[in-house]
Amino acid sequence: MATIRSVNMLIQDYERHLSQLDELRDLLQQRLTAARAGLASPADALTLLDSGCGLAGKRTRARTRRRIAELEVAIERMDRGLYGVCRRCGCFIALDHLRRAPHRQECDACRAGHRPTAAA
Ligand SMILES: [Zn+2]
Repeated sequence: MATIRSVNMLIQDYERHLSQLDELRDLLQQRLTAARAGLASPADALTLLDSGCGLAGKRTRARTRRRIAELEVAIERMDRGLYGVCRRCGCFIALDHLRRAPHRQECDACRAGHRPTAAA
């Protein structure tokens, strides 16, 4: 009995995990689409924030390009089964952090520089 229940629990955990990954993949795709649209149209909200100065507009575009690259890397990591794991130390990145910033590739400790960089 206990074994059967624990198998069911494992399946439930697995299904929950898959639905969380789907949710995060949707989030990544939405942000990627929005960021690409921001580059394509100068009237985008992101650009408007810094409008009025050509240099600020260039900075915004550079930031948007960087974000697009981060989002693409995150989707690639998801495809390779590496998503949600810190690229430096291998710890899991908290789900609520990923919901806020789905492109994140480092845990809090590594981001804060509390852990020495180790080749993973
Ligand atoms: Zn880490």
